[in-house]
Amino acid sequence: MVYKSAIPDQHIPDIDILSFLLQDNEHNTKPGAENTVVTIDGHTGRTLKHGQVKDLSSRLAAGWVDKVGLGKGDVVAVFAPNQYDHVVLYFSLLAAQCTITPGNPAYTEDEFHHQLTNSGAQTLVTVPALLPILLKVCDKIGLSRDRIFLFGDEEVSGCKPFYTLMPKDSNRRVLTPLKGTNASEDVAFICYSSGTTGVAKGVALTHRNFVGQVLVNVNFDPESARDNDVLICFLPFYHIYGLTGMVMNSFYRVMPVVVMSRFELELFCQLVERYKVTFANIVPPIAVLLAKSPVVQKYDMSSIRNIGSGAAPLGSEHINALTSRVPSNVRQGWGMTETTSGIIIQTLEKNEPGSIGVLVSNNEAKIVDENDNELGDDQAGELLVRGVSIMKGYLNNNEANAKTFTNDGWMRTGDVAVFNSKSQQFFIVDRIKELIKYKGLQVAPAELESILLGNGKIADCAVVGVYDSSEATEYPRAYVVLQPGNQGTDALANELSEYVAVKVANHKKLRGGVRFVDAIPKSASGKILRKDIREWIKKEQQES
Ligand code: AMP
Repeated sequence: MVYKSAIPDQHIPDIDILSFLLQDNEHNTKPGAENTVVTIDGHTGRTLKHGQVKDLSSRLAAGWVDKVGLGKGDVVAVFAPNQYDHVVLYFSLLAAQCTITPGNPAYTEDEFHHQLTNSGAQTLVTVPALLPILLKVCDKIGLSRDRIFLFGDEEVSGCKPFYTLMPKDSNRRVLTPLKGTNASEDVAFICYSSGTTGVAKGVALTHRNFVGQVLVNVNFDPESARDNDVLICFLPFYHIYGLTGMVMNSFYRVMPVVVMSRFELELFCQLVERYKVTFANIVPPIAVLLAKSPVVQKYDMSSIRNIGSGAAPLGSEHINALTSRVPSNVRQGWGMTETTSGIIIQTLEKNEPGSIGVLVSNNEAKIVDENDNELGDDQAGELLVRGVSIMKGYLNNNEANAKTFTNDGWMRTGDVAVFNSKSQQFFIVDRIKELIKYKGLQVAPAELESILLGNGKIADCAVVGVYDSSEATEYPRAYVVLQPGNQGTDALANELSEYVAVKVANHKKLRGGVRFVDAIPKSASGKILRKDIREWIKKEQQES
């Protein structure tokens, strides 16, 4: 059975995402829209108005074109914690018709190297604090200082702030609508995701993906949005959840966003109180923190009306605990980097605890068994999706694309879902792909396994996620077979955890520990049987 949205499909204009966001709509033509503050630095209080973002980004775009020579087809990497003027940078690069590849600022040297080389980025924007590590990578790949630009206003190690590119002539700017973009083909962003298997791959998202995603989302459940909404955002702008929701949707709606460069509970609460925040997008571990920490009770959180949760499952026990502390509509959504963010989302009406809600328009879903036979209501199987929000494909990776897409264009999600006939809502009940989610961030087992196999003491290994319901997150755990002559001691377990820790970003550390085993369960073709290992974990959790 193929599921469609109850909302009729909308016309998706054939236009690039920037021109779409800047053209007249029902929000930005309201009196006063130009002077509405749309971005607030939660740390310093600096702000930018809607009109200023447009002005700065169109002038900066001319700087990228005139002084750096950027244009269509050029890929620019952006590695930085959230900045209040991230939106200006992104819009200026889109106006210069570049493709942006945003990445995690907590990456290690090897991880930065992978994304820079894989995406083909020849220009980089970052913050001064990351220069020591990024300059090493750039030296290795031959990216010179004059291709590296900084947020802020300080020149550091020969790298200039990007604002120095602003043309002296204030009339020199790039105006929308842009010409020459093929919205269905041209890639606006390359985000990184491991997908259903293997290591991080470039997810090529077109202009049409974003135009479609913004349109279907702003017209989905319109009663939930109000004119005086204020959003708070600590979710990273390099991840699709922050990028689509809090850079694009919010700008379309001329909605102020209070930007945090990282999550700090007390500051979060202070900002909610100070700016009367109405909308917070979170990930499940933050729901737990808000429900439990005494800090929350020191502040007035009563302005919060809506909380969106995504990126990982949020159980009903956590929803109840959260709403008893912060009375609000908690709506869960499901999406992937590959679906340009949420496409199955709860509404004010369809929000059974634990469900992920209903489909947005212009996208369809089906649930299939292991032979790709379509299943019906109340039957669990792999969720497949198709529609305007689905990525163009993994960048330069035919093999992954062939595995991910069926011949008739359905994308395999690696998630196991059920459509419940009674509530008419989808539920995620399992995950068949390897992916582990730590606090909403991806951990690819294949990457950690390949690092571990590089250790001379290890003969074989498998990494799986261990779910901790008290924290509402998974922890990566390694199961290790040692080379003969080694003892599986606590000291060696710590040594191996440390061996991985220095090679990966913080969220990928083996927080679930290292366990020594005699053999890794494998199929006849040598594939790790992760399901069997998950059974070991279940048993261990039941026994403890
Ligand atoms: P990412 O590409 O980092 O957004 O990760 C996408 C994956 O996160 C999905 O395929 C799911 O496995 C998981 N995910 C996202 N939202 C949810 C949700 N609401 N419930 C369960 N899993 C989710």
